[in-house]
Amino acid sequence: MTRPRATDSEFAFELRSCRWAERAWPPAEDVETDRAVLVARQLGTKRRRWDTIVLECDREALERRANFGPERLDSDLLHVVRNAPADWRYYRDALPDPGYPWRYVREAIHAADDRGILETRKSGNRIEIRREWAYPDWVDRIVAIENKPDLDASAARTLAAQLEYDVALGLADEVWVATRATGERVEPVLFEDLPVEAGVLALEPASLSAEVAWYPRSLAVDEPGTRVLERPEGGRRDGSAARFEYVPPETKAEKRLAIAERAYERGWRSFVDTMRPDCRQFALRGTDGSQLRPYCEANGRCQTAAECSGSCPEFEPEPPSWRTKGWPIEGGPGKRCRRLLEDRRRRRRPGL
Ligand code: SF4
Repeated sequence: MTRPRATDSEFAFELRSCRWAERAWPPAEDVETDRAVLVARQLGTKRRRWDTIVLECDREALERRANFGPERLDSDLLHVVRNAPADWRYYRDALPDPGYPWRYVREAIHAADDRGILETRKSGNRIEIRREWAYPDWVDRIVAIENKPDLDASAARTLAAQLEYDVALGLADEVWVATRATGERVEPVLFEDLPVEAGVLALEPASLSAEVAWYPRSLAVDEPGTRVLERPEGGRRDGSAARFEYVPPETKAEKRLAIAERAYERGWRSFVDTMRPDCRQFALRGTDGSQLRPYCEANGRCQTAAECSGSCPEFEPEPPSWRTKGWPIEGGPGKRCRRLLEDRRRRRRPGL
């Protein structure tokens, strides 16, 4: 599914929405104290990417997840570490049939060994494995938020189709729309034809405060979902059939964990990875005393990731003289920006 390029205000709003979620999630009063929150952005599946993802995690299990390092575990690695035995065993006896050739399992075993998250030894010709740590059940709930600061009728139609897809599939526990608070008695977004299962959040990006305009319904993540493959194009008068397929709960559980692992690796401050912090016009600016957002001195505003690339007409590499202190090992301001954001990302993942 192709997405329209985010406008400047959408991108800035999205970063504020991520920061708000990190500080204030969940928006309801009955906060469970043993839950930790991890926020990421622009993740999902091949067919559907969410703007903001909030993982509600078991705090203690999240700390144990840190044993496996800051990088994500892909599905092959997860198959190995989740099934690895506490005592030495031949890998083919210990692991369930993967449903794909065993040579890929062997590759994953060696990769896990290289990362220090699995023990291996040879017994004759056989590879035996033993786990370092049990892989914890660290993700309680996954919440998806679509950020639409200015929702006009055409954007609402596109959004409604996306939310219907999410509700039918039930991959996230909740879906929300975050829109810019208007201060009106009834937020205009509530007059749009959005699925009733989706929550609506009215966010004031400058003060980073939010009100729930509509509470969502929890989606049936443990039941089979329906993936809409094609829908009638002719609007409400089009009587042609939609095409869809069922998705079993086991497949959904695997996808959810894969998304959570990617969210764990990336967080939401990784925006800098796809920008040019090595441009002399690039800056990080604090907004609420603690959030750092990208700022382009040449454009005089928060730039989007799409704008901030090597093909930007204003791009100017930072001069080598900026890097003299410690350069090239320590790097210049661009490297410092990355480190600053990386430190903050790391602080959100206890145990690392
Ligand atoms: S001038 Fe272009 S490349 Fe440089 S910071 Fe601004 S948007 Fe990014």
